[in-house]
Amino acid sequence: MWERDAGTGNEICSEMGEGEHVSVTATLLLLSPEPLIDLFLGPLVEMAPLHLRVVVQGREQYDVPLIDYLLSFRPPKGFVASLLNLKVVFSMGAGVDAFLADPDFPRHVPLVRLIDPTLSRDMTEYAVLQILMQHRQQRFYDAAQHERVWRQSIPARRTESTRIGIMGLGEIGTFMGTRLRDLGFAVAGWSMNRKRVDGIESFAGPAELREFLARSDFLVCVLPLTPGTRGILNRETFAMLPRGAFVINTARGEHLVEADLIAALDLSHLSGAALDVFGTEPLPATSPLWRHPKIVVTPHIAALSDPRAVARNVVDGIARLERGEPLLHVVNPARGY
Ligand code: NAP
Repeated sequence: MWERDAGTGNEICSEMGEGEHVSVTATLLLLSPEPLIDLFLGPLVEMAPLHLRVVVQGREQYDVPLIDYLLSFRPPKGFVASLLNLKVVFSMGAGVDAFLADPDFPRHVPLVRLIDPTLSRDMTEYAVLQILMQHRQQRFYDAAQHERVWRQSIPARRTESTRIGIMGLGEIGTFMGTRLRDLGFAVAGWSMNRKRVDGIESFAGPAELREFLARSDFLVCVLPLTPGTRGILNRETFAMLPRGAFVINTARGEHLVEADLIAALDLSHLSGAALDVFGTEPLPATSPLWRHPKIVVTPHIAALSDPRAVARNVVDGIARLERGEPLLHVVNPARGY
């Protein structure tokens, strides 16, 4: 049984024997889908300082007013607001749209997102894989091998004249862009504000979207999901892409208007698409995306949060707060990312 000591304000475990009391000054609540709990709990318990108690929603009883920190990804609407003394919310992922979609989310509580080089690297691998499969005509050669035919094809474009457009030149997009640039592709990025990244052309804001799209043979979406980016992969934006462009969405399913993608593929305006995220996940078996010959479907695996990185982010964040230092990677709720 954990109680708040009236004198010190610390939490005390009263089940421990005389002289064995451990003073707990903070409590972190982990709220996660059941199959993932142990994956994230292990590193958290290992890294948490002695004064931080970790409780798991659904497994343990706790007093709501004693919860100082929450670690979660998609809490049910109203849940965060119900934790009255919350000091910080930590996201298990880079995207925080699920938190901000909750109208009751307490905007005054800092929301810290996950920034982890492994996320950027994994997303980059996914984009490079899909781009090279297309660029090097791998499916053409797979089909030829299947038929046991020695069939050579001249590449449609040289690497240096293959233009890649990255929507969202933030943590992930910048990492991805520099790796694709180093492979020799002509890379540009689109963001809210202009960026200075060596060898990457920067386009900024709605006014430069058309020009950016018009020079993108491959379009990779790594934007956060906000009111300004929802449905941004649509009929109008596809029409601005060059004929034969290939679209990769690894951000959020709601960025894409699925029917508009299918129409653009069926009209052969677009040559193909690789989709890792969907408006409804798991993607229903009835979805036409599964069987479309020009669409590659993967089950939201482009980049999975590393539980150790998540635990490190939480423990470091709490330590910073306790030392009186500003938190890092705090989301601007007005901006939505
Ligand atoms: P980030 O560092 O916040 O970068 C976001 C970028 O998007 C910034 O460059 C920002 O511009 C730009 N942006 C935002 N709104 C815009 C708008 N309306 N118009 C133009 N540019 C806009 O985010 P990140 O860490 O790179 O992550 C991006 C997203 O990837 C996450 O939000 C998440 O949804 C997704 N993700 C998906 C997976 C997966 O497995 N599928 C894994 C990890 C992340 P400024 O820099 O100018 O502000």
